[in-house]
Amino acid sequence: MPHPCPVVLVLGPQGSGKGTQAALLADAIGFDHVSTGAVLRHHVNRDSPLGARVRRCLERGELVPDDVMLRLVEAELDAAEHGVVLDGFPRTVDQAVALASLASAEVVAAVVLTAPLDVLLDRLTRRRECPGCRATALAPAGYVDTVACPNGDGIAVRRSDDAPRAIARRLATYDQQATALLAWCRGAAPLVTVDGDRPVLTVLDDIVAGLVRHTSRIVPPAAVCRAVQAVAP
Ligand code: AMP
Repeated sequence: MPHPCPVVLVLGPQGSGKGTQAALLADAIGFDHVSTGAVLRHHVNRDSPLGARVRRCLERGELVPDDVMLRLVEAELDAAEHGVVLDGFPRTVDQAVALASLASAEVVAAVVLTAPLDVLLDRLTRRRECPGCRATALAPAGYVDTVACPNGDGIAVRRSDDAPRAIARRLATYDQQATALLAWCRGAAPLVTVDGDRPVLTVLDDIVAGLVRHTSRIVPPAAVCRAVQAVAP
């Protein structure tokens, strides 16, 4: 695509609904959805050389080194057609600064999803992912190991980084980085903060409405959702 690639960042703690909302938002505005966590898990599952390098970081809930992440993100931006909804990157100010310095990226807005800690923990302990199609489903309780894939594609299982110790480490890492990262984002692009502890489509409505209000770079197709119809000319 012609450079620079317009980028919408989706930020928030693990379990705030970033993956779900980023995918829906990308569909709504005609951008590609790039989840750095999903790209890394794909490499781990295929046992590629990159997968072998990052497997331990993912299993422990630790951050993958910045140089690896930046190369991966740059390749995804180069491959995008219209723009990218970036989910899972940046995680730190260093990553944000590195992203902003890429000639191939133009950060047009950042969305921040929030949810109370008990909601995050509940979602993460019950989250199951289909190894085949990557769809996620919530188990009825944390001790239920597997559920049917919502796409009928087999069995959804607990992600290795959703083990209780890894969850605690990932949420702590997010907390350590969040204040500085959000401050950086606020200075770099319009920031749209949305309460993620509500029904999925209500959250999506607010995200799209907030983006339309704050940047002219996002043009959602008409009739995507209620709020867009209310806000768009
Ligand atoms: P996620 O699915 O976004 O929670 O990411 C899963 C795991 O992938 C994280 O716990 C990290 O090990 C790794 N990861 C994803 N994005 C990044 C990033 N921006 N920087 C470093 N590590 C990352």
